[in-house]
Amino acid sequence: MSSSLTSVLAEDGYLLTSARELTDRARAGSMWYLTFGLACCAVEMIHAASARYDLDRFGMIPRASPRQADLMIVAGTLTNKMARAIRKVYDQMAEPRYVISMGSCANGGGYYHYSYSVVRGCDRIIPVDVYVPGCPPTAEALLYGILQLQQKVRQRKTFSR
Ligand code: SF4
Repeated sequence: MSSSLTSVLAEDGYLLTSARELTDRARAGSMWYLTFGLACCAVEMIHAASARYDLDRFGMIPRASPRQADLMIVAGTLTNKMARAIRKVYDQMAEPRYVISMGSCANGGGYYHYSYSVVRGCDRIIPVDVYVPGCPPTAEALLYGILQLQQKVRQRKTFSR
């Protein structure tokens, strides 16, 4: 579309876009997340949700049920015993669904990489869209990861489309 036509439409108070783009923007801007706190990283995740960082202002609302969640934040050490549970919870989320892996443990086993009881990365069990590094990552780092995910959702570069 020519830029002159776009500006004429904008002046008249119209907005031209595709339904797909509108949906993607709505999804990115109202992502309800399921907290999957497994260890110390969960404290920083809670920190990000509290008043100082206030995730709500990005449309990020915590949910207790996977059936109401768009995003799972895996925060902490995933053990072999929990692996089946995390997959089950992930499968209960409606599509499109997204995953953020928060911290060294969730990303690759972290300190417990060589432990017999720890999964070396939650991406062995569920697909991960964004990895947030750190031990633990700060609340700011998680916030940055969330902004990256929102951008990926708008651009349709996530596993779930
Ligand atoms: Fe704890 Fe560090 Fe593992 Fe996070 S990455 S769960 S802070 S040991």
